[in-house]
Amino acid sequence: MPDLKVLLSRETIAKRVAEMGAEIARDFRGQSIIFVGVLKGAAVFLSDLARQVPLEATFDFIGVSSYGDRPTAKEDPAGHARWDSLGEVRLTKDMDQSLADRNVILVEDILDTGLTLNYISKLVEAHQPRSLRIAALLDKPSRRKQPIQAHYIGFTIPDAFVVGYGLDYAEKYRNLPDICVLENL
Ligand code: 5GP
Repeated sequence: MPDLKVLLSRETIAKRVAEMGAEIARDFRGQSIIFVGVLKGAAVFLSDLARQVPLEATFDFIGVSSYGDRPTAKEDPAGHARWDSLGEVRLTKDMDQSLADRNVILVEDILDTGLTLNYISKLVEAHQPRSLRIAALLDKPSRRKQPIQAHYIGFTIPDAFVVGYGLDYAEKYRNLPDICVLENL
């Protein structure tokens, strides 16, 4: 059985998400925004974050996957699961609406190699939004392969494989309220 160790508790997450929401509300005071979530991992974060932003807001979702086989979580010698990004990203679900002249907040669960957000940012930029900002709940800067900077970052974490609060391992654990490190797969 894999071990789950709490890295970020639900209370810690809620406090930080409220701070991020307040920051977004300050930055876009008097304006409307659209939250664009990256499926499926960002769904939980988006729903909590959006409720902390008292502005006129709408939602959209985008789906992506990597080319070829699904990325796999493998154990490294220390027993830590490791996410192998395959380096190419493919769109599985496009936005439902035009983002032209909109204030877009791109909402992602975790910024890892940066490949996914680089790809999605370019897609969104092609719509010519009024503004584009990235909100990532988690950031693993040590894993970056492509430079990308999120405007709103919840937590910087070490290079461990995490699940919960929307994040999965083989589609499981998304409903855990805490963010946990998955060990001994
Ligand atoms: P990137 O393109 O930045 O390498 O990867 C971003 C995506 O990889 C995330 O949206 C997430 O789906 C997946 N990912 C990266 N690290 C983790 C992790 O520690 N746990 C889980 N469950 N997914 C991860």
